[in-house]
Amino acid sequence: MSQISAMRSPVRAGVTSSAGDDLAISLVTGQDGNVDFAFVSGNPALDLAGTVVSRRDEPIDVLAAPADLERWVAECDELPDRVTADFATFESALSLREATYRLALDRVLDRPFDPGSLEIVNDTAAGPVPTIKLSDAGLHMSGDLLAVLSQIARSGIAVLADPHACLKECGRTGCTRIYLDRSRGARRTWCGMDECGNRVKAAAYRARRRASTTAEGRGPEGTT
Ligand SMILES: [Zn+2]
Repeated sequence: MSQISAMRSPVRAGVTSSAGDDLAISLVTGQDGNVDFAFVSGNPALDLAGTVVSRRDEPIDVLAAPADLERWVAECDELPDRVTADFATFESALSLREATYRLALDRVLDRPFDPGSLEIVNDTAAGPVPTIKLSDAGLHMSGDLLAVLSQIARSGIAVLADPHACLKECGRTGCTRIYLDRSRGARRTWCGMDECGNRVKAAAYRARRRASTTAEGRGPEGTT
């Protein structure tokens, strides 16, 4: 998420850390369009949970305002193209997000689900869902934000209930995104190559370059 360069405003409380505690986090507004959302987790509920970046060290919330959530829903391929978010529904979305993250973390750490988070996700999933229509153009989905949240909760439940679903936290230090690894042999290490894999590889390359330059400096050529 190197694109995060938008204005930061003070903190929002009540976000779950990777240790399960409450965090106060920085907000990043997307009003100038500088925040790029990532859809790399393999599931919309996990992608929603991933809208708090770097929960361990320097958590940043890329959903600072209802307009950010509207844009996030529009950009997610598995949800309706257009919804309107009022403040109350926006708060519900953030609550669903934190509950989903907590349950996904429980799965990754192989421990029982947090009861309060289960209640939030289950209650949200019980609501009306978006309607779908088939045409030559493909599938068209429509519904309001409450229906969208219900859809997200249901897809989260489906993955969290699947004993064969391989959920992992990204391997890049600092990235706390939890993703669904569908690769053969579950060998995926990063949430996404652009987001994390290439950054780790580039850093490793630079470290190797530095090490070999230092070693050359100490070699025969460096001493003559
Ligand atoms: Zn990552």
